[in-house]
Amino acid sequence: MNSSIELPRDVYATEEHQMLLDSFREYIKNDVEPHREQWEEDTACSREAWLKAGELGFLGLTLDPKYGGAGLDFSYSAAIIEEMARLGPDSPGISMHSDIVIPYIEKHGSEEIKQKYLPKMATGEIIGSLGMTEPSTGSDVQAIRTTAKDMGDHYLINGSKTFITIGYTSDMTLTACQTEKGISLIIIDADLEGFTKGKPFKKLGLKTSDTCELFFDNVKVPKENLVGEEGKGFIYMMQELARERMIIALQAIGGVRGGMELTRQYTQERVAFKQPICGFQNTQFKMAEVVTQLEIHTAFVDRCTQLLVEGKLTPELASMAKYSATDMQGKMLDECLQLFGGYGFMWEYPIARLYADARVSRIYGGTNEIMKLMIARGIYSDYFKDLKAKMKARKLAQMNK
Ligand SMILES: Cc1cc2nc3c(=O)[nH]c(=O)nc-3n(C[C@H](O)[C@H](O)[C@H](O)COP(=O)(O)OP(=O)(O)OC[C@H]3O[C@@H](n4cnc5c(N)ncnc54)[C@H](O)[C@@H]3O)c2cc1C
Repeated sequence: MNSSIELPRDVYATEEHQMLLDSFREYIKNDVEPHREQWEEDTACSREAWLKAGELGFLGLTLDPKYGGAGLDFSYSAAIIEEMARLGPDSPGISMHSDIVIPYIEKHGSEEIKQKYLPKMATGEIIGSLGMTEPSTGSDVQAIRTTAKDMGDHYLINGSKTFITIGYTSDMTLTACQTEKGISLIIIDADLEGFTKGKPFKKLGLKTSDTCELFFDNVKVPKENLVGEEGKGFIYMMQELARERMIIALQAIGGVRGGMELTRQYTQERVAFKQPICGFQNTQFKMAEVVTQLEIHTAFVDRCTQLLVEGKLTPELASMAKYSATDMQGKMLDECLQLFGGYGFMWEYPIARLYADARVSRIYGGTNEIMKLMIARGIYSDYFKDLKAKMKARKLAQMNK
């Protein structure tokens, strides 16, 4: 690309970032791309690809080296998340495992739990998924119904989860459950009796990673598998969601960059009315819009990535990044696909996959409507504080009647 239309980026500027990106591109070229069609048929990527990612060090980039990780900061994860989306979607679900489930356990788990799971998660021998959403509730996380009953030496788990990314492939699921003290996070191993999985869903996009339902019928889970303190699960989830939202924003930036590059090339090659279609002013204007929107959003997402690395990213800013970048992704990839004409509708053209995969980014990780609610709570924080106090007082008054 001509650097005159690209913003200089500080966030991945070091030699180490570039070396990581080079080896990651090799991994995609050799170990992901050749198998993509097969994985689409299987609705999951192979174990070998997971193990290879582990061997090359991509599964525990931010994880402490004492648990087998590389001990790097989030900007390194960000670099490969964006690159994966640029070259194609995050097909194998690496970011769910490495940048969501691993950090939950590393931050909140007991030493025993960390020793038990993290080293094998870094090698890809254990794959982890995250179970929050249930058939009856998604956006309203506090309304989850899966229960974990304290039975003394173990929890008895009953309930179900749905739409779980790499749920079918995973060896364990970090699961949000209702306990006596409130929502708690518990690791449920896939081989436990009473834990069953639904068939992977047929999806509009993200076809090379599975998404499925999980069912818990009197599953006995050792008490040690509680992550953090009982009843604190909701607080942990709210803390960790900022990173999850940044992952989706980064994927949006990568997806649009990939789509823009494909479209730039195609519009110079495809001829209509005896000229390349980039000769039409409409094509030039559309591409000018795509590149401008991409660079504006890249600047904001980069700044938020830096804040996340520094531990200063607020939930409101993460919500802004997720909602604005994914909205832009939907609009810009639609414009790109249009410039491919009929070929844009064909699955064998990567622009079709980028377009299909983009749709879910406005839905998962909290819908964009929920992102706007979070932002509004920041804007009207005094009003919401006052409202909460009034509701609490009303509840107390009712109890005292
Ligand atoms: C491919 C895929 C992968 C996923 N992976 C995971 C995973 O790994 N783990 C996991 O736990 N979940 C996962 N999810 C679930 C995802 O996070 C939920 O689908 C999402 O949070 C929305 O919940 P819902 O589907 O129940 O929609 P609902 O909550 O039923 O929402 C339906 C509509 O109502 C709107 N709405 C709801 N509440 C409000 C409100 N207060 N104000 C305004 N509008 C509102 C929503 O924005 C939406 O448009 C995944 C989903 C998909 C599709």
